[in-house]
Amino acid sequence: MDHFLYKDGILHAEDVSLPAIAAEVGTPFYCYSSATLTRHYKLFDEALDGLDHLVCYAMKSNSNQAILKLMGDLGAGMDVVSGGEYLRAKAAGIPGDRIVFSGVGKTGDEMRLALEGGIRQFNVESEPELRLLSQIADSMGVTAPITVRVNPDVDARTHAKIATGKSENKFGIPIARAREVYDMAAALPGIDVIGIDVHIGSQLTELEPFEMAYLKVAELTRQLRADGHDIRRLDLGGGLGIPYERSNTAPPLPVEYGALIKRTVGDLGCEIEIEPGRLISGNAGILVSSVIYVKSGEGRDFLILDAAMNDLIRPAMYEAWHDIVPVIEPEAGAERQPFDIVGPVCESGDTFAKARQLPPLRDGEMVAFRSAGAYGAVMSSEYNTRPLIPEVLVHEHQFAVIRTRPTFDEIINRDTIPKWL
Ligand SMILES: *Cc1c(COP(=O)(O)O)cnc(C)c1O
Repeated sequence: MDHFLYKDGILHAEDVSLPAIAAEVGTPFYCYSSATLTRHYKLFDEALDGLDHLVCYAMKSNSNQAILKLMGDLGAGMDVVSGGEYLRAKAAGIPGDRIVFSGVGKTGDEMRLALEGGIRQFNVESEPELRLLSQIADSMGVTAPITVRVNPDVDARTHAKIATGKSENKFGIPIARAREVYDMAAALPGIDVIGIDVHIGSQLTELEPFEMAYLKVAELTRQLRADGHDIRRLDLGGGLGIPYERSNTAPPLPVEYGALIKRTVGDLGCEIEIEPGRLISGNAGILVSSVIYVKSGEGRDFLILDAAMNDLIRPAMYEAWHDIVPVIEPEAGAERQPFDIVGPVCESGDTFAKARQLPPLRDGEMVAFRSAGAYGAVMSSEYNTRPLIPEVLVHEHQFAVIRTRPTFDEIINRDTIPKWL
């Protein structure tokens, strides 16, 4: 249930018809459902019921200020991966003690920013990072709460570009070396070792990899406690997948994931953090686009849309599938034909889908890409000088533009011509 449904034959976001939004902002645009975002957050929150816990929304999946505010009002924390994200979270009113700082390459400036503004914890990924954080915190006369992100060497069985928990990945410290690193951390000034962090990848569609990782974390917790460390918080990362192709995938539910957490680490008396991104924002957003041309090719027909790979890069980058549906509901039993669905960018990689079965569509008609709320707008660019597209948030019968489309002048004026030219 994601609140994008046909009503009277027209696709709606909650109680707002998509053609009504298109009439105001033009296409293409992203559209998000508040009710869906809220529902997904609550599913996680309720799945951890009975444990001392905080759901830290992985804001890199969709970091619009309005969405952060909505999440923050529900009580969510934030998982940030850059100084910019930290500032965005603060700007949306998230208190520092609900912000965790992840990422493999935090700079000294970013550390200082977070220590000044307040931070719940740093998830440290290497010894050099640990030393730099110690120096900076010590020089500021403050203490940095940390977990060490361990790499459990578990195969997340997901797309190679978003697997992070194998030993060949750049993330975390090999779990076999963790005890050594914790001893080193405990001896450093300005560092307070409070817990363990793990995140094995994104778009996981099975629970087993989580289970293997969390069992290793549980074992490490006991070892580190025996070594004298006060391990009191476990950050279990994000990564639970969503059904991009509704007709044939059904990843585990948050409630099943929560039960797994309780089973594997629930008896350790630790505060639990999770960092879901995609499962909160992914199916809470769609990308709406218009057909520019229907073009007959050699043995295939192309739907050329006004959205392109610069607006939604997931198909080009991860071979990702998005369900694509007409905004005007096809009649029951309507004939379908295969289309290659492409954008106008000058690259063959600008292909959203091949041989996708759709009812006949005409120029000017609209389609919606489902499951586009995560890693959509945030990964977009202005390649081909195509302006970033608007983002719209719906709440029941209301909608608001939460990011406007820049003008061409704004885009061009960001460049400057040196005076010698
Ligand atoms: C990307 C990321 C997440 C979120 O992953 P999802 O698949 O969107 O849930 C959580 N934690 C860390 C450290 C990440 O890098």
